[in-house]
Amino acid sequence: MKLCVVGSGYVGLVTAVGFAEMGHDVVGVDNDVRKVESLSAGRSPIYEPGLEELLLRNMEGGRLSFTTDLAQGMAESLFCFIAVGTPNADDGSADLGAVLAVARQIARSLSGYRVVVVKSTVPVGTSKKVDQVMREELGLAPGVPQERFDVVSNPEFLKEGSALEDVLRPDRVVVGVDNPRVAELMKELYAPFTRNGHPVYLMDVASAELTKYAANAFLATKISFINKMAELCDASGADIMNVRLGMGSDRRIGMPFLYAGVGYGGSCFPKDVKALIHTGEALGIPMGILKEVEAINARQKEIPLDIIDRLHPGGTDLKVAIWGGAFKAETDDIREASALVTLEGCLARGHRVALYDPEAMVNLKARYDGRVTFGKEPYEVLSGADVLCLLTEWRVFRTPDWDRVKKLMRRAVVIDGRNQYDPRDLSARGIECYGIGRGLKS
Ligand code: NAD
Repeated sequence: MKLCVVGSGYVGLVTAVGFAEMGHDVVGVDNDVRKVESLSAGRSPIYEPGLEELLLRNMEGGRLSFTTDLAQGMAESLFCFIAVGTPNADDGSADLGAVLAVARQIARSLSGYRVVVVKSTVPVGTSKKVDQVMREELGLAPGVPQERFDVVSNPEFLKEGSALEDVLRPDRVVVGVDNPRVAELMKELYAPFTRNGHPVYLMDVASAELTKYAANAFLATKISFINKMAELCDASGADIMNVRLGMGSDRRIGMPFLYAGVGYGGSCFPKDVKALIHTGEALGIPMGILKEVEAINARQKEIPLDIIDRLHPGGTDLKVAIWGGAFKAETDDIREASALVTLEGCLARGHRVALYDPEAMVNLKARYDGRVTFGKEPYEVLSGADVLCLLTEWRVFRTPDWDRVKKLMRRAVVIDGRNQYDPRDLSARGIECYGIGRGLKS
């Protein structure tokens, strides 16, 4: 089948590559000229494991190309996916500017019947707005049956860091669709992805739109819940790693997303929780549970700074080494990363920051060059450091050479924001280690 994907970011690009890999003919469209130039040369502008290899393979196979010209991208495509960003507006709601602009542009470029698929994360009711603005562009009356286009909701559940794997082998595909004929087309499009038995859930459009927010808000809640338990652990001398084992092995609860740490970040959880609070309140529904999730998360991000302040009251000009700047491992994405709260708090206090991250250095340098020292490998940032903060759970940080760490640092203090180390083990090696909820008070 032929399709175009508008927006070649984390979601759009991986989606485009995924569909091409399954044999469909795909055109990726983006209005960022540099991005399209890079992609057309076979270079991925983002880091995702395995992405560049599949990008090249499918471009060479003639199933995948990129353009800045939406009309050209749409020319032969039955499906037009919208996968542009939906950041928070000032009031916390999802800013639909890019989604609706693309919808209008699609309407202006229609040369035959098209299925418009909203893949961006959008609040309940947005697909109706897409239908409405497209009708406006085409001079069609609202609500009157028409055969120029259909609008479908198809939220994306991929995780950065394993995005390709998630797209190629999804747990489920959610499709919100009113027209049974279009439902069949969507099933056909996704058939190669669901041969592993994982389902395509066909549902009404509003439910599909809400499902995405419900999923993200639940995962964020799970993280804030375990972080609240970690706070109790620190106050009472219990160890959150034991508590999580004991509770997570109950199958009704489960281990995933039950890690205490310096909070969730990224481009999705913070903004989607905010947008869902806005949606609820606009509907007159108090959203206290999610407001608390946000408040706990904001507090978690401050923990490393609190520990540094406690260890060095009123201190300035400390050297703080940071391991990890990405919002999680296996991505170069630094949007809303917890590490940035520590980094900026340290700079504001007059401390010097030296940082290493395996993949996010380009993004970090673009924002902090000249203010932060960057290392080429983990140990380079440690010399003369007063404290080391582990803030992203990259595998390369899992089993450091502690003797080397100790020798390099001025004072051997580790703040383990991702509970990767055993504080008792480090203590035995003469290193002070502060985890999150490990029952060791500083
Ligand atoms: P992104 O910022 O990485 O990518 C968006 C892309 O759209 C950019 O390349 C931008 O240049 C392009 N764009 C913007 N306006 C355009 C226009 N008018 N025409 C053509 N291209 C345009 O964003 P993302 O992380 O890929 O997220 C996209 C959507 O998917 C968001 O709604 C997000 O909430 C949702 N989502 C993201 C993830 C994730 O992990 N990143 C997961 C699931 C869902």
